[in-house]
Amino acid sequence: MTHPIGIFTVVPYFNSLRVPPYQGPPLEYSLNNKWIKEEVQKNKGILPLDFIIEAITQDLKANEFNLEAIHKQYGQDKLDKTYQAYADKEHPELSKLQKYIALLSGNLADLYMSLSKKDQLRYHLDYAPLFRHYQVRLAPDAVANMYQLWSQDQLFVEHELIEIDKGDSFVLKSQSGQTYEADVVINASGFEFNPELIDDANPLLTNLLDKGFLLDKDKRGILVTWPECRAINQRYGKLDTCFFVGPWISNTHYANNNVKALVEKAHEIVTQYMMN
Ligand SMILES: Cc1cc2nc3c(=O)[nH]c(=O)nc-3n(C[C@H](O)[C@H](O)[C@H](O)COP(=O)(O)OP(=O)(O)OC[C@H]3O[C@@H](n4cnc5c(N)ncnc54)[C@H](O)[C@@H]3O)c2cc1C
Repeated sequence: MTHPIGIFTVVPYFNSLRVPPYQGPPLEYSLNNKWIKEEVQKNKGILPLDFIIEAITQDLKANEFNLEAIHKQYGQDKLDKTYQAYADKEHPELSKLQKYIALLSGNLADLYMSLSKKDQLRYHLDYAPLFRHYQVRLAPDAVANMYQLWSQDQLFVEHELIEIDKGDSFVLKSQSGQTYEADVVINASGFEFNPELIDDANPLLTNLLDKGFLLDKDKRGILVTWPECRAINQRYGKLDTCFFVGPWISNTHYANNNVKALVEKAHEIVTQYMMN
């Protein structure tokens, strides 16, 4: 390559990597649907975040996790440290933790939607980054490739990009005062879920929102009933035969950015619909 690849990111950390699946005995897991329903009933329709934390703490103890040791080895770090933590090693403890998190992910949306708004905010501030670090697993090969390029000065990682100017080429400026010139810029900065900002990018959704056929949820996605995922119409209220699933309701169907979660939800919706 004539010029290095630059990766501009908000945080310079890398999430945990996918490791071989856990093969040991079944794990203790208590936050299933039954537990959620019982706790919500006991607490007048709301599940306090502290109850969830306590239940997870008990599960971690029962499964003999040493979270501190795991986090010391695999916690948020930069590319070189992340690569070194994984290369040529076995990862039995992380594999077990990833299994536990996979179990938790199955109930994540119900847990999230059982919280009060205040506790949802507390979750986002205090726990979501840690949870995301272990839930979102990067492909080990991709990180190894990046590391190889990085060690040959063919790749760099820079955070806090503040400006991009386009002239004959692109000029990218970062918070640290550095500027970078680039021929090609690929924007992979994530999804836009504010309906006010999508316009031409999604004419169907823009139109449906404009007519009040669909309503937005606090400018962060689409409002649906939970757990049924029925669309809510300004004129007719809840629509019994119109369902909405997918990334646009990820602020309700929390952390649904994976096909498994969507297939499970779609299956649940169709099953319920056929029973009625
Ligand atoms: C880079 C990336 C990597 C990912 N990696 C993984 C992964 O490894 N594992 C995983 O499980 N998930 C992954 N995901 C998430 C997964 O792809 C999404 O959760 C899933 O595709 C969403 O499914 P969907 O059917 O709701 O939407 P989409 O898959 O986006 O399908 C929507 C479809 O509707 C069509 N459409 C839109 N508007 C109209 C219109 N007006 N008329 C007709 N058609 C229209 C679109 O063209 C599109 O085909 C990844 C996502 C991205 C972006």
